[in-house]
Amino acid sequence: ERTSINQQVTAPPKEVPADGSFLPLMEEFYTIQGEGYNTGKAAYFIRLGGCDVGCHWCDVKESWDAALHPLTAADTIVANAARHPARAVVITGGEPLLYNLDYLCNELRKKGIKTFIETSGAYPLSGSWDWICLSPKKFKKPVPEILSLANELKVIVFNKSDFGWAEEHASHVSSLCKLYLQPEWSKAEETTPLIIDYVKENPRWQISLQTHKFMNIP
Ligand code: SF4
Repeated sequence: ERTSINQQVTAPPKEVPADGSFLPLMEEFYTIQGEGYNTGKAAYFIRLGGCDVGCHWCDVKESWDAALHPLTAADTIVANAARHPARAVVITGGEPLLYNLDYLCNELRKKGIKTFIETSGAYPLSGSWDWICLSPKKFKKPVPEILSLANELKVIVFNKSDFGWAEEHASHVSSLCKLYLQPEWSKAEETTPLIIDYVKENPRWQISLQTHKFMNIP
């Protein structure tokens, strides 16, 4: 039976260690960022398994159960990321802040790789970040301290009531934080016209579209 390089060096632990030296890796891939402020830029995506936020419209439900995703050495993840020309990674999930991301970020930064995170903010921040995209979810509210640290607030609009909810969060972010409203994919036909009208009336918000879905890339 073949063993991975990872296993040859050191056997993975049974549980995610508190120091973040191993993380449940669902997938990693090199692509173009599709959403929000960094749309259109190349980046290496690292999707960690595990999420207990429970959005009913979640399009990565396979990520929820962390136990299904192999514990992978952070050093291996860093080495894989470093092989790609774009010096930027997006850590996403799942909810990546379930884990201590200090070690992963430090090692990436040592290699001159910029660190971006996509998080619901449901757990306290770990890791050091060049860009924090906070996408709060109604099902598990963000921890208050993350709001002031966000570089980007991206609210997924599922129905009309989400505009008020978006404003509530926008009142707690820094004045430099970029504000985005993004239609939830399955409701986009219905909500996009509402978002267009809203942004015309409230121009400090911008529209974010899931452009990777139009481009047929992951
Ligand atoms: Fe899915 Fe993200 Fe919601 Fe978790 S926070 S359920 S991964 S959309």
